[in-house]
Amino acid sequence: MAEGQALVKEIVPQSEDFSAWYVSVIRKADLMDYSPVRGCIVFKPDGYELWEACQAGLDRRFKETGHRNAYFPTLIPESFFQREKEHVEGFAPELPLVTEVGSEKLEERLALRPTSETIIGHMYAKWIQSYRDLPVLINQWANVFRWEKRTLPFLRTTEFLWQEGHTAHATEEEAREETMRMLEIYRDFVEADLAIPVVKGQKTPSERFAGAVDTYSIEAMMKDGKAVQAGTSHYLGTKFAEGFGIQFLDRDNQLKYVHTTSWGASTRLIGCIIMVHGDDRGLALPPRVAPTQVILIPIGPAKVREEVVGRSRELLQALRAAGLRARMDDRDEFSPGWKFSEYEMRGVPLRLELGPRDLAQGVVVAVRRDTGEKQALPQDGLVERVQTLLDEIQASMFQKALAFREAHSHRAATLADLGRVLEEKGGFVLAGWCGDDACERRVKEETKATARNIPFDPPERMERCLVCGREARHTVWFARAY
Ligand code: AMP
Repeated sequence: MAEGQALVKEIVPQSEDFSAWYVSVIRKADLMDYSPVRGCIVFKPDGYELWEACQAGLDRRFKETGHRNAYFPTLIPESFFQREKEHVEGFAPELPLVTEVGSEKLEERLALRPTSETIIGHMYAKWIQSYRDLPVLINQWANVFRWEKRTLPFLRTTEFLWQEGHTAHATEEEAREETMRMLEIYRDFVEADLAIPVVKGQKTPSERFAGAVDTYSIEAMMKDGKAVQAGTSHYLGTKFAEGFGIQFLDRDNQLKYVHTTSWGASTRLIGCIIMVHGDDRGLALPPRVAPTQVILIPIGPAKVREEVVGRSRELLQALRAAGLRARMDDRDEFSPGWKFSEYEMRGVPLRLELGPRDLAQGVVVAVRRDTGEKQALPQDGLVERVQTLLDEIQASMFQKALAFREAHSHRAATLADLGRVLEEKGGFVLAGWCGDDACERRVKEETKATARNIPFDPPERMERCLVCGREARHTVWFARAY
């Protein structure tokens, strides 16, 4: 562990240094720790539970749309990566390889998977013979390795956890439908459960997944105005089918290559939750994925303690029986004030306080993490009121993030404009693009912004390319990104 990273006493204000804020929050909230291997992190229970919540929300949606989970091995023969030319070019620089076991050199080096198109393609070639075997709709939950140069906890690590869906279809049309269906599932999950608004669109060719025909993404805006690619869905055409010989005998008795798709979202989503909702007091977690949704804190001097704690326990049981993730903190070695700021820092969406006066009046005091708003709730019917309040918090966190994104979305007609807007305001910038790689490259070189995606539904169509001034073929969101 690097020096000085062990103990974080204070949260660095966001306005002072956003990256330092991010690292201080995740350390203070105890979500992760650094591993001795560069770029790898340990997911501590509070961080891992956020991932489990993401898994639950996504897995349910995958299964509802007919997908099933399977598991393929981590180790992949190096030669498999040669079968698809662009795939090997894209992944070779980041590929960790196992070269020997004990003192013996392996006959063939084995890669630690960076993604599993290759091994899965190899298996699908064995499993798929006829149109009756299609479609194949498989997802796997796994760890993957990409030896990234720049790393940042959760957002970009050298080993990360993710899901990768891999499907095979008889026709292009069906595979393209699947690609869009899964992109929509990511949008729905990230917006509904993580309360993060996203832009859906197509990646430019230079930002495409290595080996894909078309890559689509959802892009989210962090509180410093930078973008994060929160999930991707790829139409792979017949490229991997050709590389691995995945052919089927169709109804017309012709031997054809299948059309495949793949789609992934990772533990990067945890970083998005933190950077979109967090503030100078710490984390702020959306109720749907918060490991603890409600923290109940009994308050009062020793002589009334038993009574207050007793009633709190009853209320806790009622909340839990209704399926709410509620906990009580009745430790007497910490003051109520300390507990209030501790659970605020940890991002618990709702705090309930119960003191002797509240007990006498039959109420509890509810305090929202997102707005700080305080209100007295009757103990009778508390469960329903808490459920409604959590729904309100979820909805208003989304609206707040959406308003932030709108306020930090701009337009640029020229490269100079784009540079100025990024320097002065940051955020997402809509601009026209002629479709030439050279113009896209110049944007990156001169402004450090990249084409995030070509939105399906832009707020406005831009007429001219921001670099060369020719007619724009696409309207693109540009932004600096993590
Ligand atoms: P890809 O297979 O490259 O399309 O990646 C699928 C998803 O994984 C991306 O959309 C990212 O959200 C995520 N991802 C890619 N690289 C990393 C990384 N180094 N650390 C964490 N998440 C990543």
